[in-house]
Amino acid sequence: MKTYQMFIGGQWVDAASGATFDDLNPYTGEVYSKVAKGDAQDADRAMAAAFGARKEWAATPAIARAQILNKAAQILETSRQEFADVLIHEGGGTVGKVMFEISQTVDLIETAAADGKRILGETFNNDPTKLSMTIRRPRGTVVAISPWNFPLVLSIYKVAYGLATGNTVVLKPASESPVIGLKIGELFERAGLPAGVLNVVTGPGSVLGDALIDDDRCSFVAITGETLTGRQVAQRAAAKLKPYTLELGGKNPLIVLADADIEYAVKSTAFSAYLHQGEICMSADRIIVEEPIVEAFSEALTGLVSHLPVGDPSLPTTFIGPVISDNQVKKIDGHIKDAVAKGARLLTGGTYEGRLYQPTLLANITPDMKIYYEETFGPVASIIPVKDEKEALEVANDTTYGLSAGVITRDLEKALFLGEGLQAGMVHVNDGTIDADACCPFGGCKGSGIGREGGRYSVEEMTEVKWLTIQKTKRLLPF
Ligand code: NAD
Repeated sequence: MKTYQMFIGGQWVDAASGATFDDLNPYTGEVYSKVAKGDAQDADRAMAAAFGARKEWAATPAIARAQILNKAAQILETSRQEFADVLIHEGGGTVGKVMFEISQTVDLIETAAADGKRILGETFNNDPTKLSMTIRRPRGTVVAISPWNFPLVLSIYKVAYGLATGNTVVLKPASESPVIGLKIGELFERAGLPAGVLNVVTGPGSVLGDALIDDDRCSFVAITGETLTGRQVAQRAAAKLKPYTLELGGKNPLIVLADADIEYAVKSTAFSAYLHQGEICMSADRIIVEEPIVEAFSEALTGLVSHLPVGDPSLPTTFIGPVISDNQVKKIDGHIKDAVAKGARLLTGGTYEGRLYQPTLLANITPDMKIYYEETFGPVASIIPVKDEKEALEVANDTTYGLSAGVITRDLEKALFLGEGLQAGMVHVNDGTIDADACCPFGGCKGSGIGREGGRYSVEEMTEVKWLTIQKTKRLLPF
């Protein structure tokens, strides 16, 4: 078993206190690694390193920054297995999930590198006496806080765009996925990133998070996590008037209308609801189906879901691996038991062994059940029948969240009606709820967050816009 140090100022260091914590393998339950347990002293060291490196990095030509990012993408591509092993054994990701995540991450780094070379301003031709323009400058030092479920790609959204736009970064990965965060530090070290430009600190979220956000040298906060955490982070950042982006939870609807190809709709639903054990912010948990097809759809989906292979995530045939922790198993089971006790019908699943939770499908759910409104973050979905697309829209929007939504129909008018009406940051027609593209705006509305990541949206978040004017002739003044 390996012990991992933190990455601060280009050095691999122990926590200032010397403490470590255990990082568990969710499938075996064994300790996967021991990791430095940072506290406020380490946050201070990391902020000092990032702050110290910021001027030189901001002054580095975009093309030189892009070369380092592209080198990191190449190293990641040629070290896929090394990263996949961590994502499987530390995160419980199945082979398919982690390979998809690595490919997505390579593309994201390359896209960020390219976007860093086209940070655009505008000119305003309003006043002939002056040249009037906007320029974009790096915000300074970015604090990036990431979750454990897609720990590589969701860290990289912040790290790659932070670096590409000339910011220095302090990354704090989740306590359930610290090693993948440290591997990101190592990746950029191998790519030749100057010392201090990226720092990775590991340890308890609230302790490190509070210290990093409160630090006057932090100029921007980007977090992906639960809505409750996002609210705490936003309050803390707002107290210091620091800008932030929040990528938070979801309770995502997938609407299947009566004209849908049922076989395609069933497969799309199973993929959206159960990929990575439903531990995806975009997972479909409310499957809203028009009444004429609800019976046929439910029967076909139950058949598919009850045969999804559950087990060892390192086997290429496994579709559903372990959920991340015993606490998460308890939460999932609690939601399902609460629903069944209040009258929900269990179509399949509802049992678990260790951290392997059987994919579960429910019917007859009602708003008094926890599962109706709360994010479960596990392999469970519920079928909700509706009489038409108008009721589908009402049910879909009856949530405090607004991240992703899917609509399956061949009817263009209904697709547009739902596409425009759904309260979500991302709507996919004739697809499930899970999609991401490095160039496209990723994020949600309502309780699912504030701001967008990806492409020019990240560039805008990670840079400060400045209005700059130059008088061509002396300005007319009253004295
Ligand atoms: P979490 O909120 O428990 O933790 C996220 C990160 O925040 C971790 O690094 C954690 O250590 C840190 N943290 C915890 N308390 C903090 C505090 N007080 N101050 C600062 N940082 C703190 O979330 P998780 O369990 O790691 O991830 C699952 C959640 O993330 C789900 O709700 C899921 O929907 C959401 N998520 C959202 C997106 C998205 O893009 N919208 C993507 C993936 C996951």
